[in-house]
Amino acid sequence: MSPFDLLDVDSSLSAEERQIRGVVRQLVDDRVRPNVAGWYEEGRVPARELAREFGKLGLLGMHLTGYGCAGASAVAYGLACLELEAGDSGVRSLVSVQGSLAMYAIWRYGSAEQKQRWLPAMALGEAIGCFGLTEPDHGSDPASMATRARRDGDDWVLHGTKMWITNASVADVAVIWARTDEGVRGFAVPMDTPGVTVREIRHKMSLRASVTGEISLDDVRLPAAARLPEAVGLKAPLGCLTEARHGIVWGALGAARDCLETALDYATGRTQFGRPLAAFQLTQAKLADMAVEWNKGYLLALHLGRLADARRLRPHQVSVGKLNNVREALAIARKCRTILGANGVSGDYPVMRHANNLESVLTYEGTSEIHQLVIGQRLTGLSAFS
Ligand SMILES: Cc1cc2nc3c(=O)[nH]c(=O)nc-3n(C[C@H](O)[C@H](O)[C@H](O)COP(=O)(O)OP(=O)(O)OC[C@H]3O[C@@H](n4cnc5c(N)ncnc54)[C@H](O)[C@@H]3O)c2cc1C
Repeated sequence: MSPFDLLDVDSSLSAEERQIRGVVRQLVDDRVRPNVAGWYEEGRVPARELAREFGKLGLLGMHLTGYGCAGASAVAYGLACLELEAGDSGVRSLVSVQGSLAMYAIWRYGSAEQKQRWLPAMALGEAIGCFGLTEPDHGSDPASMATRARRDGDDWVLHGTKMWITNASVADVAVIWARTDEGVRGFAVPMDTPGVTVREIRHKMSLRASVTGEISLDDVRLPAAARLPEAVGLKAPLGCLTEARHGIVWGALGAARDCLETALDYATGRTQFGRPLAAFQLTQAKLADMAVEWNKGYLLALHLGRLADARRLRPHQVSVGKLNNVREALAIARKCRTILGANGVSGDYPVMRHANNLESVLTYEGTSEIHQLVIGQRLTGLSAFS
């Protein structure tokens, strides 16, 4: 459907995958595109409203099974992420954090009671979740986290600060990762628990249509039942990140496609030196190079999605996808901006917004450097992390 699908990768999608993609694309056209420039400018997004609308369509935790989740394929979930991020990376982040981080953590590591309590409401968008791993002084190196959970009788007492947490101020539940005497453990923390406070992070120059906050945990007392019983060690939060990174591999392609379509349309319609910009060889070289990268990224995403559906996707393979697709999407957004000239910096066009958003996407869920180190370790057998 997109002129940029030069290799007809779309023909490898099943009818169901295309149908899901079409539904999400329509939702983005109706609900996100007409409003997102305003949300971005104001730095506010109606997250609760959107969550309910996304929940109605089955987009929240759509690749999970049971508890009201849609049980869609990993490829269908990826295509949904692509379409959402063609609207805005912040809107896609709302869905990713809800489904791949918060819901996945409870679905994969939670007790039967925790699953019943949270997942059906989260699938419907009636409850919102967030995922607290990053701290003010510990980002790429979560193994050094300072947040502590100590036993006090049957209870747990959590103390620490989580920083840069998507959905924090609109969340009903936070999945919080903390160090205990036995190692890292996860907790489902209701946000109305005494001792939990949230400060919204304002003045972001990126992902402005996304809610981001700092969560302070001041001796937060939780019953034993709040701990995620199956989450043992750092591999538990890292397992959630692998899930979410797969969605980002696809999502970044959506932002890039929207930039490409905008730039092509602009270059065709604007005349300089008596000819459309699109007729100049230099413009065509830009478009051709970007389209080639986009097609390579699409093939890569589809390959990883098919591996995920076959339960064969490995973390280093997700690193290949996240590193490549976000890096190339950002390069595409920047180059598309040049095609729009001065209009490229205007909020009347989506290109600069996508480029700014992709700066956050490059950093969260493992920075490019961290994914290079993962791939480097895989190739050499040597860890260069520290
Ligand atoms: C908008 C937004 C939303 C976010 N949402 C969430 C969320 O919902 N939940 C959550 O837990 N976190 C979230 N994050 C945090 C994000 O995951 C972290 O910012 C990220 O992991 C990087 O950590 P840091 O910012 O502390 O950077 P640092 O770890 O301090 O890194 C700074 C720079 O140093 C580089 N670096 C670090 N270590 C090495 C090394 N060993 N070798 C070479 N280079 C290195 C990094 O690549 C980076 O370039 C969000 C971030 C943003 C911007």
